[in-house]
Amino acid sequence: MKHIKYLPIILITIAFSSFIVLPTIQAEAAAKVSSWDLVDSGKHLDYDGNSKYMSQVKFGAGLWNAYKKGVIRPDSVSVIQDIYCSDVSVNNNTNATTYGTGKLVFNKKNMDRLSANGKKMVASHELGHALRLAHNTSSDIMCEYNTTRITLSANDKASYNAAYKKY
Ligand SMILES: [Zn+2]
Repeated sequence: MKHIKYLPIILITIAFSSFIVLPTIQAEAAAKVSSWDLVDSGKHLDYDGNSKYMSQVKFGAGLWNAYKKGVIRPDSVSVIQDIYCSDVSVNNNTNATTYGTGKLVFNKKNMDRLSANGKKMVASHELGHALRLAHNTSSDIMCEYNTTRITLSANDKASYNAAYKKY
C-alpha cells in the first residue's frame, strides 16, 4: 500500500516537468542574419534622408538602441552617413526596401495606407535589415509582412546579437 500511495506524486512530477521543458524549447530564440549590413567600422549606423517617414525612422532607431545603446545615430557633420532614407511612389506590393548600397526607400503609395504602428513597424524592420538582420517569424519585427508590432521579440534580439558579432 505504501507504493501505491506515492505513485500519484511521481506522475504529477513527470507531468509538471514536461510542461516546464516544452515551453522552454519553443521559446528558444532563433537568430536569423543576412550576408550584409550597413554598419560602419566604428560600429555605427548613421542615418540621414529626406523621407516623409523620418519620424518613424527615428522611432526605429530608438527601438534598436534601447537594446544596444548608441549604435544607430542621426547623421551629423562629424560622422559619415551610412544609410539615406528617401521615398518613391510606385504600384507594387512593397512598403520599403533597404539596399546594400546604403539606401532605404519607402513606397509612399503603400506606406500611407498603413496605421501609425504599421508605419513604425516598416521603418524599424528596414533598420533591422541595415543592421544585418534577415526575415524571421510572423511574431517578429523582422517578419517579412507588415504587422503592427512595435517591440523587439526574443528572435529580433537574438538576431541582433548574432549580427553585432559580425560588425
Ligand atoms: Zn524585409
